[in-house]
Amino acid sequence: MIIYYSAEILGQRRSSRKLAMHMRSCRMMRSDLYTTNMGRLDLKDFSNPFDLFESLFEGMGGMGGMGMGGRSSRNRAVDGQDEYYSLVLNFKDAVFGVEKEIEITRLESCGTCNGSGAKPGTTPSKCTTCGGQGQVISSARTPLGVFQQVMTCSSCGGTGEISTPCNTCSGDGRVRRTKRISLKVPAGVDSGSRLRVRSEGNAGRRGGSAGDLFVVIEVIPDPVLKRDDTNVLYTCKVSYIDAILGTTINVPTVDGMVDLKIPAGTQPNTTLVMAKKGVPVLNKTNMRGDQLVRVQVEIPKRLSSEEKKLIEELADLSKGKTASSRR
Ligand SMILES: [Zn+2]
Ligand SMILES: [Zn+2]
Repeated sequence: MIIYYSAEILGQRRSSRKLAMHMRSCRMMRSDLYTTNMGRLDLKDFSNPFDLFESLFEGMGGMGGMGMGGRSSRNRAVDGQDEYYSLVLNFKDAVFGVEKEIEITRLESCGTCNGSGAKPGTTPSKCTTCGGQGQVISSARTPLGVFQQVMTCSSCGGTGEISTPCNTCSGDGRVRRTKRISLKVPAGVDSGSRLRVRSEGNAGRRGGSAGDLFVVIEVIPDPVLKRDDTNVLYTCKVSYIDAILGTTINVPTVDGMVDLKIPAGTQPNTTLVMAKKGVPVLNKTNMRGDQLVRVQVEIPKRLSSEEKKLIEELADLSKGKTASSRR
């Protein structure tokens, strides 16, 4: 980002507040231009245009808090980009955690040139286009004054040096390589969880630090156990007789088959809680969610004649009960 202000304003020596406002509006224009009323100032004294700005602004409140961003681009280190890897896990592995070997492809520092990008045995020479400055300045005369445009030198890419490119990495200083990484996936991850492996992303350039590796988790759903954050949802069916009299059923959980007591008189759509049979809380493995079991009560559509007879007897009994209670 390069900022401009016009020669006119410098000449008038406006207050620093007004100047700051003006510069802010210039920045909003995202201009790559800046202008100077150079006169007595020699650009060569400054290795980058911000030095020039800062000296001009001294005594005017300075540049503090104006968000000028980075300084010299010459030979600057460039940090490597983050790398992403999509990891598909089965339901149980996501619940309890798992150790996985993954193979990632990313940019690593070139061993031939030690990351410099220059062919070994050659010495870089000063860039003749920019004179080793890494930047070139072009001028344009406009009604507002002389506009100076500072651009990164295209001959040397801003380094100020021209070197014979390394044959292995074609001058980038980095090569694409595959690496196997052993990954410990913690218990409790879910679809969309991201694991960060520091400094295992792409290598930086010119001494910049490496990016991080982000492992993005995708979990294959289980056909019967549904996950709701740290809880597991399950639906069971019991007969109306079992719902009335109570029973014990065997239900699947992440820990395997477990007995569940259906109390006598369980109403349809009751949710029974199987405490701590859910998913461990991520990074708090001693804490676990619950398994929530929704009870569906099945009413038979057809009855045998004997069953019908007994149900009718039951009906008479309950009518009698109602009659006697009315008396
Ligand atoms: Zn150059
Ligand atoms: Zn190389």
